[in-house]
Amino acid sequence: MILHPHLDVNRAGHLTIGGMDTVALAREFGTPAYVMDEDVIRAQCRTYLAACRTHFGADALPAFASKSLSFTEIYRIMAEEGMGIDCVSGGELYTARNAGFPAARIYFHGNNKTERDLADALDMGVGTIVVDNAEELATLGALAAARGVTQSILLRITPGIDPHTHRAIQTGNVDSKFGNAIQTGQALAITRAALATEGVSLLGFHCHIGSQIFEIDPFLEAADGMLRFIAEVKRETGFLATTLNLGGGLGVRYTENDPVIDYAEAIAGIAAAARAAAEKAGVPLPRIILEPGRSIVAAAGITLYTVGGVKEIPGFKNYISVDGGMPDNPRYALYQSVYTALIADRAGEPATYRATLAGRCCESGDLIGEDMAIQPAKRGDVLAVLSTGAYNYAMASNYNRLPRPPVIFVKDGKARVVVRRESYADLVRNDL
Ligand SMILES: *Cc1c(COP(=O)(O)O)cnc(C)c1O
Repeated sequence: MILHPHLDVNRAGHLTIGGMDTVALAREFGTPAYVMDEDVIRAQCRTYLAACRTHFGADALPAFASKSLSFTEIYRIMAEEGMGIDCVSGGELYTARNAGFPAARIYFHGNNKTERDLADALDMGVGTIVVDNAEELATLGALAAARGVTQSILLRITPGIDPHTHRAIQTGNVDSKFGNAIQTGQALAITRAALATEGVSLLGFHCHIGSQIFEIDPFLEAADGMLRFIAEVKRETGFLATTLNLGGGLGVRYTENDPVIDYAEAIAGIAAAARAAAEKAGVPLPRIILEPGRSIVAAAGITLYTVGGVKEIPGFKNYISVDGGMPDNPRYALYQSVYTALIADRAGEPATYRATLAGRCCESGDLIGEDMAIQPAKRGDVLAVLSTGAYNYAMASNYNRLPRPPVIFVKDGKARVVVRRESYADLVRNDL
């Protein structure tokens, strides 16, 4: 096992994913390429579904945060596995519906949905819209009323967890661009507004405190804060929330330094805290929705590149250049995210070399990582970056007119293309 149980080294010394030789996959499909183990994705869905039902109740639902990985086949898999999904744009909604994903199990998010987004969501019968702000509430109400429909909604709430205590948390704090703070009274105000708005039916509340979180405490605090808020709303308005969406955010292993998370245990812990909080607040535990993104798909994926140059600058540093970079993985450039990389041809050998992994863009910040431990490399080697299943393909761009890599799924010893490699013709498709 290398970092994750589905990654290993075969007798040839090559890295394998789901038992398949990555050097052979690179030869067959070309590089750069995203390769994902389908069984790992499905197993994570099942872990979440089973744990949610066991610990929160039979009606609990994990909804895959599809901004982390969005293309037709992933929505088909989520539909087959019985997951809900969360979409954050008209494009994600379109892709999901085009793949046949049931509209009733879609949660539609975004802090600035356009009229067109809202109209599209209403026209496709999206199950739940998570309303972010007062203007959106009024616009949605008017659009729904004009269509003679009533749209189920949740309100996005920021529970105001102190970011100084938990630095990883960046979306649930009072000054977030998302949602309505409990602390300022704005959460209660938008609740009153929603209850008075024609065309919408308020089911309850949503919070999402951040991402790549390993400690369970922030989730417990969030659940506690949200249940106290539900009790306050009941006292102040008489409205009792029947749904509580606690968002996503559980962490994923990017390097050996990251802990191995037992997701079922984490969900059990959050459920126990939510039950205790509900009891203390004197309200029944609502139907619970979770929104995992990263923890469903990140570990399943790797990216394969071909090494070009190896540049040693004596007394300074070493660079290994690959045939991709920030267009297929912008996360180091965006937030200095750390990854594990290895030479797939000699994956069993010790990582005795240190290098900065450089992409091929005309941009000094185009790096996959700095000062990484890796096997000594030479031109033509296949280089693998691990845990790239989330927020890599989904964030990919055509910067420097690099065509986006394909996505290859492996399962039962077979590989299939689920997203084709872009061609140069694709690059000029919309140029007039
Ligand atoms: C990004 C996001 C998620 C998923 O977060 P992960 O860290 O990928 O689990 C869930 N809900 C909302 C509203 C989000 O914006």
